[in-house]
Amino acid sequence: MHLVVVGGSDAGIAAALRAREFDPTLDIDVVLADAFPNFSICGLPYLLSGEVGDWQALAHRSRADLERSGLRLRLETTVHGVDPVARTLVVVDAGHREAVMGWDALVVATGAEPVLPPIPGLDCPGVFVLHTMDDAFGLARALESAPESALIVGGGYIGLEMAEALIERGLEVTLVERLPQVMPTVDANLASLISEEIARHGGHVVLDTGVHEIAPCRGGRLCVKGDGGFERAADVVLVAVGVRPNAGLAGSAGAAIGPQGALVVDRRMATSLPGVWAAGDCAETYHAMLGRPAYLPLGTTAHKQGRTAGENAAGGDRVFAGSVGTQVLRVFDLAVGRTGLRDLEAAAAGFEPLTVVSTAPDHVAYYPGAHPLHQSVTGDRTTGRLLGFQIAGHRLAQVPARLDIAATALHHGATVDGISDLDLSYAPPFGSPWDAVQSAAQAWISASSGA
Ligand SMILES: Cc1cc2nc3c(=O)[nH]c(=O)nc-3n(C[C@H](O)[C@H](O)[C@H](O)COP(=O)(O)OP(=O)(O)OC[C@H]3O[C@@H](n4cnc5c(N)ncnc54)[C@H](O)[C@@H]3O)c2cc1C
Repeated sequence: MHLVVVGGSDAGIAAALRAREFDPTLDIDVVLADAFPNFSICGLPYLLSGEVGDWQALAHRSRADLERSGLRLRLETTVHGVDPVARTLVVVDAGHREAVMGWDALVVATGAEPVLPPIPGLDCPGVFVLHTMDDAFGLARALESAPESALIVGGGYIGLEMAEALIERGLEVTLVERLPQVMPTVDANLASLISEEIARHGGHVVLDTGVHEIAPCRGGRLCVKGDGGFERAADVVLVAVGVRPNAGLAGSAGAAIGPQGALVVDRRMATSLPGVWAAGDCAETYHAMLGRPAYLPLGTTAHKQGRTAGENAAGGDRVFAGSVGTQVLRVFDLAVGRTGLRDLEAAAAGFEPLTVVSTAPDHVAYYPGAHPLHQSVTGDRTTGRLLGFQIAGHRLAQVPARLDIAATALHHGATVDGISDLDLSYAPPFGSPWDAVQSAAQAWISASSGA
């Protein structure tokens, strides 16, 4: 059987490797438009900050490793069309040569592309987006000429990680966000800690300000104008206002597309076309809390969906367990994360949410170096079921580990009270006899019982 995987990043490589493992007799081609198979684009902010010194270190596996695993890689080869009836696709390689390739099973893992807001000036030299290795190389070249200032449009996690990276590189950074808070996927009280952390390191965060024009101005700089008379000149502008699914290839072959433009897939990652599977940022994801599809373009999801799609394309019968919307971010010394549903999301989904905010030290106060953890537990008033958890604290305060306790509890449908019963590890340098997550759960129990 011949399996073709379109896309050679997180989802595509996960699919190809799992398919190979599941059925070692498969003939597998991985076709990717760029020259960077299995590179971690999640690492780009750390490459640009200088924390990761060599771009080649971003490869999860080398090309040779992948080929040794039995994958045939077709780099710099773009798939232009899929015929789902004849089971063929048209590829064009770097030398502009066109060829037709047959397939018995197809995994589409074409990812996402940055959203470009409808504002003039995005094509000016010095304006960048950040999604691919080539985007990063372009920005890195611009940084070599020692620009003094940068303006970032968009306060989502990529804009925030890049604010840190560029401040670390010595630039004066202004981040402009259209909404009243950065990081709109967490509650405002945690988002304001992020803005404060950026300000503490000399960055400027401008909220409630949509950017509506970028234009060249004096001295080769870029002049950025926005709502309320906002105007600032910068040497470099990074536009990071989100991504949209790159679903056109399978879509134009007839695959169903969902409301957010992503490929519709079932729990086995099958598209509406027979023999065609999809995974990663081009596809919808099953949201385990909502019990319906959502669009959550994250690397962690892309890997798991890819593994499921690969196994099923190889003849297996694996069901994707679903996402619970877990996400974490570091900005300087602060780590912030969320999992599950926030209060408004839970109410919209028909739950009866109660959200309780509390603070606890990350480890016993008498042991040096304790930091406060700001936690927010959302649970259902009627059933006591844990619905969501948000946390912010020092980057050394094991924020992701604590977030993952909650994500694991959500995955297993635990109650808030059930978190108190967990047998968690404890030693004074790391925690408390009641871990901070358990203290937050107990604060929720007290509030829900009116104590
Ligand atoms: C700066 C940045 C930081 C991030 N940080 C995090 C993080 O900390 N945590 C997290 O969970 N997620 C993070 N993400 C998101 C994560 O990187 C993506 O969710 C993940 O890479 C999606 O993988 P994918 O394989 O679906 O798509 P992509 O990585 O977008 O790859 C798409 C692949 O498809 C190929 N392709 C597309 N069209 C064609 C075609 N027509 N023919 C052939 N090949 C084609 C491309 O060449 C590429 O190989 C980050 C993303 C960025 C940009």
